[in-house]
Amino acid sequence: MSVKENIGQIRGELPQGVELVAVSKFHPVSAIMEAYEAGQRVFGENRPQELAAKAPGLPCDIRWHFIGHLQTNKLKQVLPYAHMVQSVDSLHLLEAMHAWLERNGRKMDCLLELHLGAEETKTGLTEEEIRGILAHSSDYPCLGFCGLMGMATNTDDEQLIRADFRRISGLWKELKAAHPELEGFRELSIGMSGDYRIALEYGATMVRIGTGIFGAREY
Ligand SMILES: *Cc1c(COP(=O)(O)O)cnc(C)c1O
Repeated sequence: MSVKENIGQIRGELPQGVELVAVSKFHPVSAIMEAYEAGQRVFGENRPQELAAKAPGLPCDIRWHFIGHLQTNKLKQVLPYAHMVQSVDSLHLLEAMHAWLERNGRKMDCLLELHLGAEETKTGLTEEEIRGILAHSSDYPCLGFCGLMGMATNTDDEQLIRADFRRISGLWKELKAAHPELEGFRELSIGMSGDYRIALEYGATMVRIGTGIFGAREY
């Protein structure tokens, strides 16, 4: 199937109000333009250099979501182009992003990434860290806290994936109720090509799909 057909098929499965983030990492600008011609406007990239190389030459109504681990020395490759950083995975990054935005007179939306699963290698904040950040959200006036992001354990075991989604969805609901002052806090970004249908059952408001739209990536 073509990129256009893939997008049409996935859109048909998403309930109203669920945002499709087309993850274009490792795919060329021509593939992005195919998706753009099919009406797609929200794209995700996970490597700073790749975003900085692609974004300037593409239509300016594309909204780029940064979804990868972001080192603080790479902020200037990402923040000028990003509409949202979904992968805020440490307090150190949060502080550095805020300082950069303040210096540059900018504001930015972000999601807090919850560490899910057992894999030690994976990045993300603990539940306690997320609660702490939101309790002090007014310390970060340049950041809009829009919700949570998570990547389920990379496994074929559907029960483990469900356990991850149940946990992040539960935390998201708790935090929404605890922080009515954060009006923008309404996004739950869970679900990739292999598990987005399950993620929808747990209240996903954003799904991040690469392979299902663009085909396999060549590394
Ligand atoms: C690559 C990536 C995706 C998309 O993965 P697919 O399995 O190709 O859909 C989603 N989220 C993050 C954070 C990614 O790095």
